[in-house]
Amino acid sequence: MKILVINCGSSSLKYQLYNMDNGDVMAKGLVERIGIDGSNLQHTPAGKDKIVFEQPLPDHSAAIKLVMDKLTDADCGVISDLSEINGVGHRVVHGSKYFSKSCIVTEEVKDAIRKCFDLGPLHNPANLMGIEACEKLMPGTPQITVFDTAFHQTMPEKAYMYAIPYEYYEKYDIRRYGFHGTSHKYITSRAIEMLGGKKDSKIITCHLGNGSSIAAVKDGKVIDTTMGLTPLEGLVMGTRCGDIDPAIVLYLMNKENLSTQDVDTIMNKKSGVLGVSGVSSDFRDVESAMNEGNKRAKLALDMFHYKVAKYIGEYFVALGGANAIVFTAGLGENSKTSRLAICEYLKCLGVEIDAEKNGIRGEEIDIASADSKIRVLVIPTNEELMIAQDTKELLDK
Ligand code: ADP
Repeated sequence: MKILVINCGSSSLKYQLYNMDNGDVMAKGLVERIGIDGSNLQHTPAGKDKIVFEQPLPDHSAAIKLVMDKLTDADCGVISDLSEINGVGHRVVHGSKYFSKSCIVTEEVKDAIRKCFDLGPLHNPANLMGIEACEKLMPGTPQITVFDTAFHQTMPEKAYMYAIPYEYYEKYDIRRYGFHGTSHKYITSRAIEMLGGKKDSKIITCHLGNGSSIAAVKDGKVIDTTMGLTPLEGLVMGTRCGDIDPAIVLYLMNKENLSTQDVDTIMNKKSGVLGVSGVSSDFRDVESAMNEGNKRAKLALDMFHYKVAKYIGEYFVALGGANAIVFTAGLGENSKTSRLAICEYLKCLGVEIDAEKNGIRGEEIDIASADSKIRVLVIPTNEELMIAQDTKELLDK
């Protein structure tokens, strides 16, 4: 059985083609900077070198078409025809009240994903575009959805409720849902293994990418997480503001005569490190600008690191201590400077990191020094593997 996994992020698309008979990854790749200058596809057929294709990719449909072309290409492809793929597993960000587990795509499922557009404005439309592009390119092949909100369903009421009139929870299901659940779940299980299979574990998982979130995980179950009703709450992100005083929204609407759509765009697409730095939503660009002396770029990164560290402190309290802090995703896995800046704040909790180990990239590693009171793990996330397993399970039924 061959399963293609598609993970459409706000500006990136990751894919892996699995041979589920032996668990091998036949090909994998990453499309970066979708919709912004410098779009490129990095395609790696198993056992061969990565090939980079640079071309403008205005949206996710264009990106998927390019991926399909390369998977079936005579030179760099790994299958001769798309019909060899038995099913496609898609990451979908917001499942709201409609989905508590993975399912096979039907028209009703697509309608429900559309109903969640308001709640996941940066991701759900991209996720649905991915599903529809695949349906068009490979009609008849089952498409499966795996939801980001599922792993956080174990949060207690006191963590997921907002202190607004209770009737809005009853009427509109307004509560905190949390996101990046597939990633938090994967790195939690890897971390527990790295801690020697520890049963009573207290782990703080930090998924730091363009979209970022942290979860407090006790004995393998989420007790709190930074994202809320939508993926806008919590940390400072690439283009999202994270936590702000809600009164700012009303104040801005009055002062600038803004519509709700205007404010939504400002908070989701024009804020975060992009909004503060004025440079880019890509952390690498912002880091380069800071190194060239750009003060607002430095401020944006300082705000990001400070907020991450504050939430780690909050979750240390929520968990009553911590065995490990885990870093993952684009920034968490790759930026030693960000990990260092965040861990500087955590010295008061007894966190010490080993500079040399912090410089190692691309593998699961404990970067804490021997005498650190808390382990600091870098674990490349593997949402794709989790999605492939869910997809196979549904196809086997
Ligand atoms: P998303 O899926 O939300 O788009 P990713 O997890 O792919 O996000 O992370 C993308 C972010 O990771 C980008 O902002 C990028 O700049 C950042 N990133 C990737 N590699 C590095 C690096 N070496 N140093 C700093 N930031 C990096």
